[in-house]
Amino acid sequence: MLSKDIGIDLGTANVSIHVRGKGIVLDEPSVVAIESDSKNVLAVGSDAHRMVGRTPGNIVAIRPLRDGVIADFEITEIMLKAFIDRVEGRKWLSRPRILICTPANITSVEQKSIREAAEKSGAKDVFLEDEPKAAAIGAGMDIFQPSGNMVIDIGGGTTDVAVLSMGDIVTASSIKIAGDKFDMAIMKYIKDKYKLLIGERTSEDIKIKIGSVYNDGSNDDMDIRGRDMVTGLPLTVTIYTNEVREALWDPVMSIVSAAKSVLEQTPPELSADIIDRGVILTGGGALLGGLDTLLADQLKVPVLIAEDPMHCVVKGTGILLDHLDKLKK
Ligand code: ADP
Ligand code: MG
Repeated sequence: MLSKDIGIDLGTANVSIHVRGKGIVLDEPSVVAIESDSKNVLAVGSDAHRMVGRTPGNIVAIRPLRDGVIADFEITEIMLKAFIDRVEGRKWLSRPRILICTPANITSVEQKSIREAAEKSGAKDVFLEDEPKAAAIGAGMDIFQPSGNMVIDIGGGTTDVAVLSMGDIVTASSIKIAGDKFDMAIMKYIKDKYKLLIGERTSEDIKIKIGSVYNDGSNDDMDIRGRDMVTGLPLTVTIYTNEVREALWDPVMSIVSAAKSVLEQTPPELSADIIDRGVILTGGGALLGGLDTLLADQLKVPVLIAEDPMHCVVKGTGILLDHLDKLKK
C-alpha cells in the first residue's frame, strides 16, 4: 500500500474522492435514500439518485447539502462515511489522512460535524480546505505567486467567485444560485407557459441537452414529458433553446452580478493580471451552453472553461495532499 491520503470534494450535487497514487476513485451524486418512518438507510449515491422523484410515500431521497449548507447533519455524516468506506474498505494498513473541500460559507458547527464524520470513518488527521482554492489549483492555476487569479465555480447549490493571490483568497463571494436554481427556473417556465408539470431530473436534462444562455443563432429542440395541469394526464411538449435561455436569464444575471462585484473589490494590480490570464470556470455549471461567452461579454475579460470542470476541486485536493505538511489542520 503506497500511501494513505484521501482528498474529498464534498459537493452539493456530487461527491468525488481522490486517493493519493491512484487518482479519482469515486464519483457519486450526493444523495441518500431513507425510509422515513424507521430512518433506515436504503441507498447512498447513484442508487439513491435513481430514486429521486420516484419514491413511494415512505421512502425519501435526500440531498443533505442541497443549498450549500448542511440541511441534515446526520445524513451528511452517513453519506460521507459510506463513501469513505467504499473507497477504503479494509485495504488500508493504517488510518488515512483526509482533506475535505466543503461548500463555502458553512458554519464552524457544520465544519466540526464534517470533521467528526471523517474521524468516525477512520481518518487519522482531517484537513478542511476552501473550495475555490482547490478549484483554482485543480484547474491548473498557479495561485501561490503574487499575481491575480480569478475562478468562478458553479456547482449545484452555490456559485463561488474568488480572486486568489499568494495562496490565499483576496476577494470572494458565494451565492446560492447555481445548477439547482437553473433547473427550478426551467421547471417554472414550463409550468407557466405550458401548464405542464415536470420533475427536477427532466428539467436538468433539458438544461444539459439544449440549454444555452448566449444567442449564437442556433435553436435546438427537445421533446419533454410531464403531467398536464389541466387534464392531469401525461403530455409531451417540444421545448426550444430560445425558451431555455429566457427561463435562465434571471439566475444567470445573478451570477454575472456576483462576478462583477468581486471584480469591483479587487485591487487594480490583480485586475490587470486577470485581464491577461482570464477568468476560469469550474464546476458542472461551467458546461452550460454559452455561459463562457456571455460572461466574457458582460465582464469584459477573457473567460475560459477549465479542462474537466466537474473534477477541478477533487484534482485540487489531490495536489494539496502533496503539500499537507504545510496546511493547518
Ligand atoms: P457540486 O460541486 O455542488 O456538487 P458540481 O460541480 O458537481 O456541483 O455540478 C453539478 C451541477 O452541474 C448540476 O446542477 C448539474 O445539473 C450541472 N451540470 C452538469 N453538466 C452540465 C452541463 N453539461 N450543462 C449544464 N449544467 C451541467
Ligand atoms: Mg463543487
